[in-house]
Amino acid sequence: MSQYATPSAELRARVALEKHRFHNTHSLGQNFLLSEGLIGHLLDEAALSPDDCVLEIGPGAGLMTALLARRCRRVLAVELDRGLEPVLGEVLSDCDNVMVHYGDILKTDVVTLAQREFGGGDYRVVANLPYYITADILLKLTALPQPPTDICIMVQREAAERIMSAPDGKQWCALAAELQYYGQPRVLAEVPAEAFDPPPHVTSRFIRIDRHETPVVTPRDEQLFRRLIRAAFAMRRKTLANNLKAAFGLDQQQAKAVLATAGVEERVRGEALDLGELCRVADAICDIAS
Ligand code: SAM
Repeated sequence: MSQYATPSAELRARVALEKHRFHNTHSLGQNFLLSEGLIGHLLDEAALSPDDCVLEIGPGAGLMTALLARRCRRVLAVELDRGLEPVLGEVLSDCDNVMVHYGDILKTDVVTLAQREFGGGDYRVVANLPYYITADILLKLTALPQPPTDICIMVQREAAERIMSAPDGKQWCALAAELQYYGQPRVLAEVPAEAFDPPPHVTSRFIRIDRHETPVVTPRDEQLFRRLIRAAFAMRRKTLANNLKAAFGLDQQQAKAVLATAGVEERVRGEALDLGELCRVADAICDIAS
């Protein structure tokens, strides 16, 4: 046994940040997790297995990445900030099952990258997300032709509440509807602001969304269904009929006909509808269009 213990991944990450004089950029949501104990707990909650292929968004200093690498078969990490390259190079130097791709996750061709790294098989998402684009990232991932089997992510508590909201509740929104069409969300852990470096001004929740094995609804045209969801919540004070007219160029008669075919009230507001009703409205629009 060597005289000196190998430095912990946490120490390596902290030293690398210091050595390369890395300064966090607030606008990129760079609130890092630098506690091996806390990340270990989160990864326990995510129940990773040695066969898992994981897509991580925003590896930051790479501590979560290094700990994921120990537990999984392969990790693909997408990081926007090239300034982290020397830090990640050092922290991940002995992780031969990690690939870091530098680019904006919202502009990255995730399908091609995942295909290349994971050989077209199933993959999971685990990440401490940059909060300023949480919704955009989730909407992108869940609408992919081959979406992940589940998504374990850190989000702001308010975002978690919205994602978990139920139809007709105050928080029910397009994001919740689209994500619950993809899967079933639940909270894995509550994480206080002090756990991050630097601490954000919000409390966070680590949540998991499991992709439905059997779809809860099966719209005839998935793209149109997603458009419908966004239109239904677009102007909350307006009736669904008015939102439909604006989004799909329907006249009053057509909007009425759509709602009648879907079996929903004429003066209903979009936010009162559950996924089944939204799906029926989308299918009724398909009928008019065909
Ligand atoms: N995973 C690290 C951790 O837990 O310490 C860092 C998490 S930090 C909240 C978010 C990370 O996402 C940062 O490293 C940031 O540079 C990166 N990021 C921000 N915008 C991004 C984007 N559009 N695409 C990819 N990564 C992004």
